[in-house]
Amino acid sequence: MAVKKLFWTDPYLCECDAVVTSAEGNTVTLSHTVAYAFEGGQQSDSGTIGGQNILEAVRDGMEIFYHLPDGHGLKTGDNVRVAIDQAKRYRIMRLHFAAELVLELVYQNFGHPEKIGANITDEKARVDFMWDGNISETFPVIEPMLKDMTDKDMDITSGFEDETTERRYWEIKGFAKVPCGGTHIRKTSEVGRLSLKRVNPGKGKERIEITLADYKREPKPPFCYFDC
Ligand SMILES: [Zn+2]
Repeated sequence: MAVKKLFWTDPYLCECDAVVTSAEGNTVTLSHTVAYAFEGGQQSDSGTIGGQNILEAVRDGMEIFYHLPDGHGLKTGDNVRVAIDQAKRYRIMRLHFAAELVLELVYQNFGHPEKIGANITDEKARVDFMWDGNISETFPVIEPMLKDMTDKDMDITSGFEDETTERRYWEIKGFAKVPCGGTHIRKTSEVGRLSLKRVNPGKGKERIEITLADYKREPKPPFCYFDC
């Protein structure tokens, strides 16, 4: 049985109880987890398993392998607490959805250029396109649209397209339905204010880099079950 990925059913959850389902050397697997493993350009979460720091989280098929420090002492069958840095995860979720909106607005308003890369950390997100010219030409069009969408409290739904293969999507009714296995916020207002910057990573390629403009006034996550 692969790990139950609670970061999908509740992306705001920052702690859970779990049973260690295997422990070989420094690598463990779990019955349940809140700790996301790098996938689709979204950075892994920082966190702990049974108080031991997660050094690396690797997704392999439907399983997640967590690498822990030497001497972690966990054994198969142990009951553990899994916890993540929720503030970091929430910045990742905001930047992830900002990248989703930027990508979709470029697609919808500029003839669906080819996307050649994307990456999301808790500090910034980027989306790379095949693009002749300077992609900042899109900013006067997409920035007011981004502001309008984040000002409105539009619902974002996420779910399984196919649960057996873990194919996920997010959807804003009347705007877009997009396949993605990342962790998504529930309201467009949570994205907050953004800054867009143009970067030229090479001939014929253009990058939009996204940062959170209101870092100091960062909204708190809507709720958490635990004091973390
Ligand atoms: Zn996504």
